[in-house]
Amino acid sequence: MNIDWSKLGFAYMQTRSHIRYTWKNGSWDRGELVTEPYFNIHIAATALHYGQTAFEGLKVYRCKDGVVRAFRPEMNARRISASARRSCMAEIPEELFLDGLRRVVKDNLDYLPPYGTGATMYVRPLLFGSGAQIGVNAANEYTFIIMVMPVGAYYKGGLNPVRAIILDDFDRAAPNGTGASKLGGNYGAALLPHKIANEKGFSVDLYLDAAEHKYIDEFGTSNFLAIDKKGAYVTPKSKSVLPSVTNDGLMKLAAHLGMPVEWRPILFEEIADFAEIAACGTAVVITPVNEIVRGNQVIKVGPREGAGPVLQKLYDNYTAIQWGEAPDPFGWTVEL
Ligand SMILES: *Cc1c(COP(=O)(O)O)cnc(C)c1O
Repeated sequence: MNIDWSKLGFAYMQTRSHIRYTWKNGSWDRGELVTEPYFNIHIAATALHYGQTAFEGLKVYRCKDGVVRAFRPEMNARRISASARRSCMAEIPEELFLDGLRRVVKDNLDYLPPYGTGATMYVRPLLFGSGAQIGVNAANEYTFIIMVMPVGAYYKGGLNPVRAIILDDFDRAAPNGTGASKLGGNYGAALLPHKIANEKGFSVDLYLDAAEHKYIDEFGTSNFLAIDKKGAYVTPKSKSVLPSVTNDGLMKLAAHLGMPVEWRPILFEEIADFAEIAACGTAVVITPVNEIVRGNQVIKVGPREGAGPVLQKLYDNYTAIQWGEAPDPFGWTVEL
């Protein structure tokens, strides 16, 4: 193994194996480690025709004490089963999810970056309908895979702010649609607005509620959070927002640090009054957002460089728990 951990980005890398389970006749098999990164799929599989797919994303850390720990994996196990229910797929029992995670991480331990590099192991579970079905109905066979790969430290220096754009011609999720589920179709449908945002020079796109375009929902692949001028943590309550593990953790951490936490509908107009704004998700934890553009409106928030003081404090405390550098009062880390 000859990996330069400092040069890793967030990109696919083939590792030794993935683990693969099959659901048939009402139950999951015992799973097996597979070295080939290919799958022989039926041409009538529902995943291909009707988008019966759900995915997850979590990280595994080689902590300061040398112990290998996953961060809140049971949250991802529950969420993929919630996504499965929304698209009539077989659910993943929590024990199966954790068993698969342990086995695949163990088989790929030499791809787990050392402590101190900032690099981690990204874990990508994937569930899809692999049974043949030509009518629009749920499949009678499902495949569950967990793949792992090393990914680099996102921030090599300090936290770097980005600019966001609201594209009023696009919505991410319908009011009673699938926004709260990590179903593949949501992301395929978001590729075009994301590309347009990138072409206009913005790294993230921010979505408003689809019904009225009055309230903030979330960014394309991360939740929205803000710190108001009184120092409260504010994040949108909406049926269309993906329940982020990172946002849940940051809310709990903020409360633990004595901050007021407000989980409520947030009007677009409130953006200008916030002291700090960020996107949050597993890959990066916190991305400060210092400018939001909508049509001719340009709203500047927070410092030009780096992160505001509150976001920086939350980031430092949260990542210290992940790396085992600080006590874990919440019981978030799971030894593998
Ligand atoms: C995955 C995802 C997030 C972040 O969730 P985490 O569990 O924090 O990684 C936020 N929004 C969307 C739309 C997502 O797909």
